[in-house]
Amino acid sequence: MDHTDHTTREKPLILIADDDDATRMLLKQALDNEGYMIIEAEDGIEAVNLYTAHKPDMVILDVMMPGMSGFDACRNMRESDNSAHLPILMLTSLDDINSIDAAFEAGATDFTTKPINWRLIRQRINYALRAYKNDQELQTNQLRLSHALEVASLGHWDWDLKTNELRWSEHINAIFGLKPELNQGSFESFLGRVHPEDRGLVTHAVERALKSTESYSIDHRIIRLDGQERILHEHAEVIQDKLGRPVRMIGMAQDITERIRAEETIRRHVYYNDLTGLPNRRLFNERMQHAHEIANREEQHFAVILLDLDRLKVINDTHGYGTGDFLLKAIGNRLQETVRSQDTVAMLGSDEFAILVEGIENPENINTMCIDLLQAVSRECVINGQGFYITASMGITLYPDDNTSHKNFLQHAESAMYAAKENGGNQFCFYNKDINTRAQQRLQVDMALHEAVKHRELEVYYQPQIDVDSGRIIGMEALTRWNNQKLGAVSPAEFIPAAENNGLIIPMGEWVLRTACEQAAKWHRDGYSDLRMSVNLSPRQFQCKNLPEYIENVLDETGLDPRRLELEITESCTISDHEAGIKILERLKALGIRVSIDDFGTGYSSLSYLHKLPIDAVKIDRAFVTCIGENGENGVIARTIITMAHSLGLSVIAEGIEEPHHLEFLRQEGCNEAQGFLVSRPVNVGEIDQLLELSLKTPVAVVR
Ligand code: C2E
Ligand code: MG
Ligand code: MG
Repeated sequence: MDHTDHTTREKPLILIADDDDATRMLLKQALDNEGYMIIEAEDGIEAVNLYTAHKPDMVILDVMMPGMSGFDACRNMRESDNSAHLPILMLTSLDDINSIDAAFEAGATDFTTKPINWRLIRQRINYALRAYKNDQELQTNQLRLSHALEVASLGHWDWDLKTNELRWSEHINAIFGLKPELNQGSFESFLGRVHPEDRGLVTHAVERALKSTESYSIDHRIIRLDGQERILHEHAEVIQDKLGRPVRMIGMAQDITERIRAEETIRRHVYYNDLTGLPNRRLFNERMQHAHEIANREEQHFAVILLDLDRLKVINDTHGYGTGDFLLKAIGNRLQETVRSQDTVAMLGSDEFAILVEGIENPENINTMCIDLLQAVSRECVINGQGFYITASMGITLYPDDNTSHKNFLQHAESAMYAAKENGGNQFCFYNKDINTRAQQRLQVDMALHEAVKHRELEVYYQPQIDVDSGRIIGMEALTRWNNQKLGAVSPAEFIPAAENNGLIIPMGEWVLRTACEQAAKWHRDGYSDLRMSVNLSPRQFQCKNLPEYIENVLDETGLDPRRLELEITESCTISDHEAGIKILERLKALGIRVSIDDFGTGYSSLSYLHKLPIDAVKIDRAFVTCIGENGENGVIARTIITMAHSLGLSVIAEGIEEPHHLEFLRQEGCNEAQGFLVSRPVNVGEIDQLLELSLKTPVAVVR
């Protein structure tokens, strides 16, 4: 039954029940000017019927009535719905305590005795009605509030710091999925329901609030009793006593899971591509702008790569969009697997991807990444048992090299991408012409190098090393040469770094080592038994775990005495992982192999660093030798290296001696060995054989 009638009714409705016509009439008169509506009943039964039919805002009941007494009628009304607060005034002519008690027991709100004091009764009725109205409003508000709290999933709690008693509202139970009758616990019992990963956050917030007596607002996860994970927003405040000591904490908690999920969904739609789940143009633009700011602040490089699939339209037309979509998803995944985790792969259009590569240390690395990306795209993709092949065209712009504002990045990358497409697709193109030319060369070298190893286009040359004092040849350095039909003679300075990058240095280096060791063993058999063979090892080879075993194997198979093998490593070999580097060197030394540090003086070398390495010799870099003047000027670095190395018990070899005075200076400074064009350029085996024969025949050394 609707009991908010009083709000819809214009005037309050009063039911007067009395078997005495006079009393009813007088009451009506008394209330005449108060603006009430009145209905009348002559006995108890009629009173109950009228009450049920009209739900008046107040009832005035005579105690003594025929049929049903006022007490019974009162009880009857009270038992009906929503009548708990209905004001019922009982009129009694029996001025005794018993009937007053009986009236209250029956549920009356108030009573008055006959004869009625007419002035007073008016005020009493007005008062009762006003109280009833307020009561009704309060009830409605409470109901609304409770409703609102429920809708907002808002609960509140109160924590007594002294007793550690935590009380909470029923909404908290709903949020945590607890039983309704439970409304009390401790801080620890609450913390037990917080997601384990967020407990630190909550404890920290509470501790800080208690210390500073400032409020806090945090979002954290909870685990409901049924195991469900929800996200809460909590706001809490500290209540202090008169002395400012915290005594209680009160707070409210709101379940914001749906809101967060909705936000996530919106975010996904706004920032990500629906098909692939990759960032879309909007997010890519934001990241690009961010990269631009960082690059300016920290003087870094970054690249924007635009990647367009070459024949997707053909596949869409012949096999349907379903196949095309599948392919796009697969390609998106592959691109992401190929780049580093900090790079952004985005989907800009129907078949266009973009990649943001940040924090580039060496712009050359982009080259390698682009080759990898091309290969990743062109791998076979199997859809419903059928194999598909697709290729991509890529355009790259580099910042700051291309000197563009972030608004132009995509445009530049796009024009470069079209250039790649015009060249036939399945390739990449840099926006910057110079970089592009270099990249194309690198690409050509890279591709040709694969063939070179297979087709034995490589050859090992040897350059003699002499003892500075006697001028006799004591060793050879193996230096690789590559002659390609199309490219001609390619310099090691170009193809060695390329092979380093694409991994070919491993098979190539093994081949050089084996060839050099075989050759040295042959020279030993031919009578040059002291001749030492120096082979260069690249950092990537040095990182191979089985390097010592492999070398031991080669020595076994070629029959070369380990003491006649020297490995030239650069400082960078042992820089990245110093401890691991030392371990490998120790194992090589245990085999009896000699180790020298190549290009010494150009790297990170420091005395303390060298001191810890188990090595035998240092090779002064050519740069410090060729600059030595006729009177020894500019020889200070060479001199310092010699002194320093000798103090560590290391032997010193100088490379790049081109002039007799270079050799003379080095001899005076006590340098042990030398190598350079003055003695001989690196030459093929045939020429070395002649040179060796010559040095054997003439008792005088090759250079004196
Ligand atoms: P490197 O090990 O320092 O080799 C010495 C380089 O200096 C050689 O260059 C050699 O031809 C050159 N050279 C020797 N004497 C003189 C001289 O008097 N004047 C001048 N101007 N140059 C001289 P190359 O053969 O071009 O090799 C360049 C670099 O390539 C080598 O430097 C080495 O680091 C690397 N390399 C060559 N072959 C191999 C190899 O088989 N494996 C590895 N890992 N690296 C190799
Ligand atoms: Mg060398
Ligand atoms: Mg060198």
